[in-house]
Amino acid sequence: MDVNFGGFVPISTVDWRGKAVCTVFLRGCPVRCTYCHNASILSGNDTRPVEEVIGMIRSSRLLISGVVFSGGEPTMQEEPLVALAGAVKKMGLLVGVQTNGVYPDTLEVLIEQDLVDRIALDIKARWQRYDNLMNVPCVSKVQRSLSICRAASKGGKISEFEVVITLFRGYEDEVPYISRECSDVDLVIQQGVQGDIPPMSCSELTKIADQLNRPVRIRTREGGEISYEGSRDRWITRER
Ligand code: SF4
Repeated sequence: MDVNFGGFVPISTVDWRGKAVCTVFLRGCPVRCTYCHNASILSGNDTRPVEEVIGMIRSSRLLISGVVFSGGEPTMQEEPLVALAGAVKKMGLLVGVQTNGVYPDTLEVLIEQDLVDRIALDIKARWQRYDNLMNVPCVSKVQRSLSICRAASKGGKISEFEVVITLFRGYEDEVPYISRECSDVDLVIQQGVQGDIPPMSCSELTKIADQLNRPVRIRTREGGEISYEGSRDRWITRER
């Protein structure tokens, strides 16, 4: 079996909070966000045997506790991803998937076969705006992914599930809406960076988090990841 390969990072300490992992990038994504940091692997072909990628993972095995599959959109390649995740599990390592949620069937297969431990699901806008912003109509698929992951998390089928909002200046109003839709799910607000436009600062993002009255994690280039926990009147910032 072949996989359309996008890249490999032998060791990363930023792709899974608190863990050293290797990261496998799978090529291809139908969404085409204008801000995508991995635009060079959204299309094209670099076909490799799955065994070759398993060999890359095996070479990092002694240094890592898990493997993160990213992209592109890793769930677009269901069969190779399932094969890779299965091989990773056989090595005794954890499996994480970063996804835009456009392929809920793949997530369902990974969860049913106990091949994934952590899912980070991007939610990019309120549902009403989704299909206008994306390159492909996908809102119902992302909603289904949210529902599948939420059920898996509550049922103990996956140990970590987070919804990630990549936030750009001018889109602040999307945050409370997405937060309400995901009120029972871990929420991450990630600093969006696009071209020469100044990104929102860590302090701007924390002000937004303040208004949500819920635990939130914030990721920025300058501040790494911070966790906000607490009550309406008192927030505790904890660096991780
Ligand atoms: S969904 Fe993710 S991988 Fe696809 S274009 Fe957007 S940012 Fe890039």
